[in-house]
Amino acid sequence: MNSDCIATKSFDVIVIGSGIGGLTAALLLACAGKAVLVLEQHDRAGGYAHGFKRKRYTFDSGVHLTSGCGEQGYPGGQVIYRTLKAAGILDQLDFIQVDPFSRAYYPGVAINFPQSIPAFVKQMSEHFPEQQQGVQELLQLCLSLCQEVTKADEIMAVGDIVQIRDALSIMFEYRKATLSEVLDKFIKDEKLKAIIATNWPYLGLPPSSVSFLYWATMFIGYLSDGAYYCKGGFQKFANTLANGITLNGGQIRYKVAVEKIIIEEGKVKGVMLESGLNISAETVISNADMQKTVYEMVGKTHFPDRFLHKIDRMKPSISVFTVYIATDLDLNKSQLGHESFCYSDFDHDINFQKAYNGDVTWISITIPTLADPGLAPDGEHLIILTTLLPYELCSNWQQVKQQYQKSMLDLATNYLPGLKDHILYIDSGSPATMERYTQNQKGAAYGWAATPEQTGPNRIQNLSPLDGLYFAGHWTSPGGGVYGVSGSGMQAAQQVLGIVKQDEFWALVNSCDNRSKTHNKSFNQTTY
Ligand SMILES: Cc1cc2nc3c(=O)[nH]c(=O)nc-3n(C[C@H](O)[C@H](O)[C@H](O)COP(=O)(O)OP(=O)(O)OC[C@H]3O[C@@H](n4cnc5c(N)ncnc54)[C@H](O)[C@@H]3O)c2cc1C
Repeated sequence: MNSDCIATKSFDVIVIGSGIGGLTAALLLACAGKAVLVLEQHDRAGGYAHGFKRKRYTFDSGVHLTSGCGEQGYPGGQVIYRTLKAAGILDQLDFIQVDPFSRAYYPGVAINFPQSIPAFVKQMSEHFPEQQQGVQELLQLCLSLCQEVTKADEIMAVGDIVQIRDALSIMFEYRKATLSEVLDKFIKDEKLKAIIATNWPYLGLPPSSVSFLYWATMFIGYLSDGAYYCKGGFQKFANTLANGITLNGGQIRYKVAVEKIIIEEGKVKGVMLESGLNISAETVISNADMQKTVYEMVGKTHFPDRFLHKIDRMKPSISVFTVYIATDLDLNKSQLGHESFCYSDFDHDINFQKAYNGDVTWISITIPTLADPGLAPDGEHLIILTTLLPYELCSNWQQVKQQYQKSMLDLATNYLPGLKDHILYIDSGSPATMERYTQNQKGAAYGWAATPEQTGPNRIQNLSPLDGLYFAGHWTSPGGGVYGVSGSGMQAAQQVLGIVKQDEFWALVNSCDNRSKTHNKSFNQTTY
């Protein structure tokens, strides 16, 4: 450890981890004029949004789709668009709108999910004409709920109890509801209930246990804010956020793992790297696994018992198994879309339970080359097969990887006849792979599971009880998914700056011109 270097290393804010939540928080704080440093243990940015190249193919390790990248949508949405715009990097990447954003397959049913509320209602009504009003009312409720949720923090901070109850009445009414409970209220047909809930794997829990509040914001995101694929893959999105941090005067370092968060007299004072080097900052935002942050990086003696009990009771989300394929099958003629959910049962409790037991009976099939042919050479396509599986299923994933890969390929062949004879490349990622690359405990795909008990006001908030420590990413509020963690990055940045009102926050980050500024130039000369 070089003590001369320690004296020169001082930042306003250190962000641990370059997942999309961490990058968003860092970028917005850099835009607001803070001296920001992001430390990432992997060799590239993105966390679960990172990509990898094999042969001439560009794969996304996880992410297939997100919302909020365009100008369209409900008031308070579009966080990704607004972040890129504030940082002056909007023109550095293209988002491709994916419409329909999903295709659902069930026994005897194949149906597209178009990307607008009226088009979605029309589509469902063509198959279930007598349910049109129910679908319309359900989506109207979801939209109103979304609008309340986006301003909830602000209203709770400034309103009195009556104002809060009036302004957030839908949120209060439904905060404990599961998706199934609300579907039962509006939809009578069991098959239609299942179809509307098709995208539940995006949240890792079936309709009977997933939070309605979180499902509604995710679903309206796609129907109102739009569904997007990032041209060039989501690594490009992460890289653009990282570039934006540098452009706005911040710094980012790869292959640098944080081991400890330094605490003095009950306050955050910086971080200690795995190399033993200390870097000081009075504010640290952890984008890393929350339990590891609290118990390993800080230590439990620095937190109140109530907070520790809450963390101990929280349950992580399930993990995933993914198969990455390159093929010369002509998929432009296929019925499948960018993202297709293929179920053999309408009962999602059964679908979830089977996955939980390690029985592969459903998958999602993603073909990103339909949106962006540039990911593979001409005439070739990429296919990603995904299913949910719990990490605990086996103690040695390496041993069973081939077996799961085969089961998923067998299932995919039902929807893509001839696939097995046209494979140019195949590999897979298990829950252990997810954990290894991102350090998320048990390869949890979405942070804490999105139950009503762990969502909304019940989720662990961005501001920790320890002075100077904040959280951004899917372990904190509002929750998982790229759009959720972008929101968490925004919320964490707001909390650090102490700005409650969103309009004031966006006015500040938009008005600062830090693009020529470079904080802590001496830091550049240091190698870790
Ligand atoms: C297979 C898969 C597919 C998915 N598909 C989608 C999708 O299509 N759309 C969608 O919206 N969501 C999707 N999700 C969920 C979404 O990807 C995640 O919820 C989200 O990306 C998590 O972002 P995060 O900011 O919490 O950070 P994470 O992605 O969890 O990244 C955390 C980062 O912190 C770093 N880190 C950890 N510990 C340390 C340390 N000690 N020092 C330094 N760095 C550290 C890690 O290396 C990592 O880069 C998917 C998830 C998976 C697993």
